[in-house]
Amino acid sequence: MFSSAPTASETLPPESIGQGIIRRVSTPNSNNPHHILRTVFGYDTFRANQEAIIATLVSGGDAFVLMPTGSGKSICYQVPGIIREGVGLVVSPLIALMQDQVAALRANGVRAAFLNSSLEAAEARRIEAEAAAGRLDLLYLAPERLLTDNFQRLMTSLKIGLFAIDEAHCVSQWGHDFRPEYLQIAAVTRRYPHVPRVALTATADAQTRSDILSRLDLAGARAFISSFDRPNIRYRVQLKKRDRAQLLAFIRDEHPGESGIVYLRTRKRVEAVARYLAEQGIAALPYHAGLDPGVRRRHQKRFIREEGTVIVATIAFGMGIDKPDVRYVAHLDLPASMEAYYQETGRAGRDGEPADAWMVYSLADLVALRRLFESSEGQDEFKRIQGRKLDRLLGFAETVACRRRVLLDYFGESRTTDCGNCDNCLQPAESWDGTVAAQKALSCVYRTGQRFGAVHLADVLTGNPTERVRNWRHDRLKTFGVGDDLSKTEWQSVYRQLLAAGLLSVDLGAVSGFRLTAASWPVLRGEQAVRLRRDHRPVPKTPGPVRKQPIPDDFESDADQALWEKLRQLRLEIARAADLPPYAIFHDKTLRLMVTVRPRTRDELLALHGIGETKADRYGERFLEAINA
Ligand code: ADP
Ligand code: ZN
Repeated sequence: MFSSAPTASETLPPESIGQGIIRRVSTPNSNNPHHILRTVFGYDTFRANQEAIIATLVSGGDAFVLMPTGSGKSICYQVPGIIREGVGLVVSPLIALMQDQVAALRANGVRAAFLNSSLEAAEARRIEAEAAAGRLDLLYLAPERLLTDNFQRLMTSLKIGLFAIDEAHCVSQWGHDFRPEYLQIAAVTRRYPHVPRVALTATADAQTRSDILSRLDLAGARAFISSFDRPNIRYRVQLKKRDRAQLLAFIRDEHPGESGIVYLRTRKRVEAVARYLAEQGIAALPYHAGLDPGVRRRHQKRFIREEGTVIVATIAFGMGIDKPDVRYVAHLDLPASMEAYYQETGRAGRDGEPADAWMVYSLADLVALRRLFESSEGQDEFKRIQGRKLDRLLGFAETVACRRRVLLDYFGESRTTDCGNCDNCLQPAESWDGTVAAQKALSCVYRTGQRFGAVHLADVLTGNPTERVRNWRHDRLKTFGVGDDLSKTEWQSVYRQLLAAGLLSVDLGAVSGFRLTAASWPVLRGEQAVRLRRDHRPVPKTPGPVRKQPIPDDFESDADQALWEKLRQLRLEIARAADLPPYAIFHDKTLRLMVTVRPRTRDELLALHGIGETKADRYGERFLEAINA
């Protein structure tokens, strides 16, 4: 994953620290967190917990921060790093991410730099000298760097303002991102007992959390646990018919010209879907681990730097991407687990603007996933946990309840109200008493010998005497034709839901079909009722009844629309010249405010979200000119 990281020269703004263009913002209020939020970052209010975390660190206390992706963890140590005397050392495992963060900080006039293996030795020495001279507010480094003798020596001559340990879950073997170097961080920080420390992560179940607190020596830290809700993300799950056409319609109808990520399970599918979208005139690029690292790097860079690029990827894509204006994440295949779904969809809408998490899946996907699970090796306990995880994912896909509630419930956060921003809230799914249908479906599985799939079973139930049915003499069974009250499609829907609910499992023999499970019997015996969801009619090609959400360039007047295009163009020019992603100049939200508010002076610009002193100085004039031309 590191090989795909852009190099330092690709992400660093052209100004170098030594040339004195980056300056410390110093005004009478420069130690007031609100003032820094306003003048440096251009934001008006702190988000939940940010202020309390900052206060804790500024006053010298330790903190443990659990916050979902995109909720603003970085500000929690960046502001104290600026306020506290000395340099804030930020340990981060992802080179691409630290480069982006440093680029964004420097664009805001903060004296930030990073040290990692991508730097030339001379450049690294120069940055170390800046740190030693007290000319840095924040210094990002990879954990292995922190542990080197060289850096240990340097540290003795530094004034250290704080330690921030980002992606703190890397200290735990429990998760997927274990980094052994994290285990040694505590030994380093222990030598600086008066320097406040903060550990931050977006993923921590109970086990990981306790690992973080004990291994990073943070038992006494104040814990700040935020809600995992991402209210601006709209969750939608639909039935897969022709997935490419559905995806194309979704992009064209709802997100034309916007950035998005499309996830698929295999490299082959990634290639095929990327090609298909490109043929349809969409700026889509493939990304998977089988591509040449140079190609991957190029595609990632285009995704970050150019507007409206769609990345079609396997899960190899995403770590270390903090592009804020990804407007949608589309899954054409089911993700591996609820955790994976949450993490992957979480890459949408980090800027807080409306974004979509959109997924399609089919009965065939379910069967494939169940088969994969059934055939997986592993100890019983492991397999049991995996089985439960799969059940929860499928339950989420099939639920008729508010999806956000189901999702948050999975992470231990229970809600008492529906969200109003998921498909089931916006267009309530009908459910029906499927007890009798389930009994018929299950008994048809049983009577045909537990070896057939949904197509054949539906033929038997609806009394369709196909050649196969006749060959197997299934037209003589008692269940033949007992289900002619439902269509073949409806029976397939019943089977899909029974499979998802664990009332059926898949056979791993030569012929893949359904088998009954222990849970099937109470239904067959009439001891357990079954409620089923009524599938919507085939997904419409035109936008469905789900309300189209405002997209950033939905302006009422032509003049506004024209100004928006103009400002976007200007932003792109500036970004290209500075070799920065457009969002590092201004976020969409800020541009949109410029269109609606039409600021005339520097002060009016400064009042807008996302414009601090440095950006007003650097870009203000050109934008004011464009607005008032
Ligand atoms: P995380 O590290 O938690 O994934 P980031 O720190 O990258 O999230 O922040 C996500 C986005 O939210 C960034 O674009 C950041 O500038 C923005 N942001 C953070 N705090 C605020 C705030 N108080 N007001 C407005 N925007 C904010
Ligand atoms: Zn909802």
